Amino acid sequence: MIPVHAYEGQRVGVLGLGRSGLATAAALAAGGATPVCWDDNEVGRLAVTEFEVADISREREAADLAALIVSPGIPHLYPEPHKAILRAWENKIPVDNDVGLFFRALMDHEPEDDGPDPKVIAVTGSNGKSTTTALIHHILQSTGRPTQMGGNIGRGVLDLDPPVAGETLVLELSSYQTDLARTLAPDVAVFLNLSPDHLDRHGGMGGYFAAKRRLFEAGVPQHAIIGIEEQEGRALASVLDDPMLISTKERLRGDGRSVFMNKSFLTEWRGKQLAAIDLRPALGLAGRHNHQNACAAYAACRAVGIPPRMIEAALTTFPGLAHRMERLGETNGVTFVNDSKATNADATEKALLTYEKIRWIAGGRAKEGGIDPLWQHFDRIAHAYLIGEAAEDFAKTLGDTPHTVAGDLETATAKAMADANPGDTILLSPACASFDQFPSFEARGEAFRALITPHLEEAKS
Ligand code: ADP
Repeated sequence: MIPVHAYEGQRVGVLGLGRSGLATAAALAAGGATPVCWDDNEVGRLAVTEFEVADISREREAADLAALIVSPGIPHLYPEPHKAILRAWENKIPVDNDVGLFFRALMDHEPEDDGPDPKVIAVTGSNGKSTTTALIHHILQSTGRPTQMGGNIGRGVLDLDPPVAGETLVLELSSYQTDLARTLAPDVAVFLNLSPDHLDRHGGMGGYFAAKRRLFEAGVPQHAIIGIEEQEGRALASVLDDPMLISTKERLRGDGRSVFMNKSFLTEWRGKQLAAIDLRPALGLAGRHNHQNACAAYAACRAVGIPPRMIEAALTTFPGLAHRMERLGETNGVTFVNDSKATNADATEKALLTYEKIRWIAGGRAKEGGIDPLWQHFDRIAHAYLIGEAAEDFAKTLGDTPHTVAGDLETATAKAMADANPGDTILLSPACASFDQFPSFEARGEAFRALITPHLEEAKS
């Protein structure tokens, strides 16, 4: 845990008692403050055993607070500010979050050992944040550098260990987190991409983009890495000094620094080509969207001084994140892929575009529109095996595309395996929520893994 000393001897409100709220209370207490905790949900309040619990939206409880620390799940402005936040504004006390406290604590932190100051790489964007964060962490780890990963993935930022000299902390930051943090001071900041998401919480697309660009404008990172496949990325890059530009669509052979895809080659450019890495052997990074993540991770690692050859070696050993187009292995020339996280057609589209001769296991509890948007890709499907509540509807949408209503995952998997030929990919990418048959997308992915693992060649050897 990283102790927060900024409010030593003072009372500080902690609003929202999930994972990050509890870590914040503990970090404040470790730094000598008295946390006063609140969650509108009684279950949340019951999770607090060591600290004071009080409704800090009431003046009596809020009057002597020195600051209010808000969890990412709580609306601070749109659609409506939480009552405790209105109260804090009235009382003119600072409103902050765990990320703000983290950067402040880090500025005061002196590692015990000699060596270079710890560095922070922060990743934001609409899609691919977790993958990029985990990939950067994997590359750093494989070069033997001390590193930790946290934020929106893994441990909360204040749950990380105090960094040692020379360490690199890799953080995934959501728009909620960058929106509210009073202090943002990453050494390297990555903006991957932007698509409409969480718009109710940000008062529309402009507010959403503004939340993300704070990482660059309030944070003033030494190195800014910007995906420019959307106009917002271009606009952001244009106001920054010497940003490193990223694209999978455009060969960015300009005067500045860039990392882009040239066919299957990740290319680093600075006035001339500095490196070219074939991503075909990087099996855990299949698909154009993962190439974007790879370009961003490459750029971030170059910014902290890792040589291209070392990054190249680590890219090929990245296993991918569980349940996101996760390659489970191969048997008799048939590849198995677990993409259980794909709970809507948009996410499944990425997987359908990545593979060919697909034996597609799909279905569950359908989202609005079902798989209608995917019809252009049906020619990539050798056969579909349909499960769950959506099976009959999906069968209708598939029409002439070969398909079987299999009912459950076990039957679908067994049938797909019996039918498969060398060169096929058996893909679980349901385009549906899991809740009709599983407690979560993770449980669904694990069930698939358990069905496949005994058949994998790697497992047998
Ligand atoms: P996030 O943390 O931003 O939610 P993840 O890395 O967990 O992103 O990926 C979630 C899903 O988003 C993946 O399964 C994939 O379908 C899609 N995805 C991943 N990277 C990208 C990207 N760079 N662009 C668009 N979609 C992506």
